[in-house]
Amino acid sequence: MKQGRRALAALLLALWCLLGGGCVSIEISQAGPGVTAAPEDIPAFSGDPYVVLLDNEPGFTESQLTSSSYETYSQLDSLGRCGVAEACVGVDLMPTEERGSIGSVKPSGWQSAKYDCVDGKYLYNRCHLIGYQLSGENANKQNLITGTRYMNVEGMLPFENLVADYVKETENHVMYRVTPHFVGQELVARGVIMEALSVEDGGEGVCFSVYVYNCQPGVAIDYATGESRLDGEASGGGEAVSYVLNTSSKKFHDPACSNAASISKGNRQEWTGVREDLVSQGYSPCGQCKP
Ligand SMILES: [Zn+2]
Repeated sequence: MKQGRRALAALLLALWCLLGGGCVSIEISQAGPGVTAAPEDIPAFSGDPYVVLLDNEPGFTESQLTSSSYETYSQLDSLGRCGVAEACVGVDLMPTEERGSIGSVKPSGWQSAKYDCVDGKYLYNRCHLIGYQLSGENANKQNLITGTRYMNVEGMLPFENLVADYVKETENHVMYRVTPHFVGQELVARGVIMEALSVEDGGEGVCFSVYVYNCQPGVAIDYATGESRLDGEASGGGEAVSYVLNTSSKKFHDPACSNAASISKGNRQEWTGVREDLVSQGYSPCGQCKP
């Protein structure tokens, strides 16, 4: 049944592409280490932490479905990068102890970088492919990639929670696969493909296939090395300018603006620096002087 629907979806997609409709879905063929999506087929990040792939249909085959829990990880490649991680998640796989430290693991592309615009300041997290809450796998270097805070918390966590809640509630099993997407020789993944399918109810409870972006709004990442910088807008950024801030309303003004003159002393602050820094701190430009 599922297979039929998937075949139909693939056929319709192929027709759509033939007709020049443009392909934004990517085909994740039957699993196996090293399966990666063609980068040109993944739409550029446009403000949502993830996009749905292939009508949200995970690529597990009938013969892969099992109600016995397991987990498998790929050997690191010659660049020290993780590959596909796969599990059949059941309650028996889930941790019974609090998570320990994972600070000893340095995933490929790992750098320590802090930004005010990042929740918790640190740009990168040691990001579990199969979340600790699902597998109990802790400092396993085959399961940890350099991932942005944004991908970890906004992108992956809601899907992990969905699976964890379902398994705990039903004691059913969920086929679960996370495939990091590396481009060329790059050390930091561009994103991860997450697929999940609940077994006992044939996907009734959990069924998804998504691509989660490994990006951080406001920060530009060099995926080849993991280096990063504040993402200045097209104007080139980086130029220091003087503004007057209203620390209460979080507006910034040109020093000559009449609104700036009327800010009460307690809320007024003179500030010189890069505009993007202000924006990333939550400030917005005054509508009158449009600084
Ligand atoms: Zn103003």
